[in-house]
Amino acid sequence: MRSWVIRPGEKDNLMKDLIETILSFEKLGEKYGVSRQAVWDFFKRRGIRRPLKPKGHQTEECRLCQKLIQISKRPHSEFISNRTLLKKIGVPKTKCLYHLHKLRDKGLVSQTFGRLRSKRAENAYGIYFTKRLSISAIERKVGYKSFRSIIRRHRALGWNVPPSLYVYDGRERRRVQIERHRRKKW
Ligand SMILES: [Zn+2]
Repeated sequence: MRSWVIRPGEKDNLMKDLIETILSFEKLGEKYGVSRQAVWDFFKRRGIRRPLKPKGHQTEECRLCQKLIQISKRPHSEFISNRTLLKKIGVPKTKCLYHLHKLRDKGLVSQTFGRLRSKRAENAYGIYFTKRLSISAIERKVGYKSFRSIIRRHRALGWNVPPSLYVYDGRERRRVQIERHRRKKW
C-alpha cells in the first residue's frame, strides 16, 4: 500500500515534475511512493498547470513498440520472419509496419529487424544457429535450396550472420566422401 502523504523534502521535486513532465499521476505516485490520488490532491491544491501531452505516436508509451523492442533484443532476432513476428505480437501487418518504421527511424531496433520474408529461411537459420550441420545438409532438411545464396546476400546487405558451427575437418571430409560414394551406388 502506497502512502497518502508526500514527504516534505519531496514536495518541490514533485511540483517540478508536475510542471515540467507529462508523467501520469500514477507514474509520479510510483516515483514518490505515494498513491495516485495523493499526487492528484497535491496537484489540485496547488493549482498547478500541466504541460499538454505531445500529439501523435509516442514510442515510450506504445505497448506495441515496447513489445517489438523486447523481441528485437533477443539473440538472432533479425532472423525471425515477419510472419512469425506478426503472430507473436498479434496485430495486422499494416499496423505492425507503422510501428516498425518508427522504431527503425529512431534507431531503437536494427534496420534489418522484421525484414525477413521467408518462413523457410527462418527455419533454416534456426538450425544454422543451433546445430553443427553443413549448409547443404540444412538445405536438404528444410527443403530450401537457396539457403547458401540467402546467407551470402544477407551478409552483403549487412546482416549479422555469424560463422557456421559446422567444422569441415579430416574426419568430416571422409564422412562426406563415403556418403557421396554411397549415393552414387544407388
Ligand atoms: Zn508504437
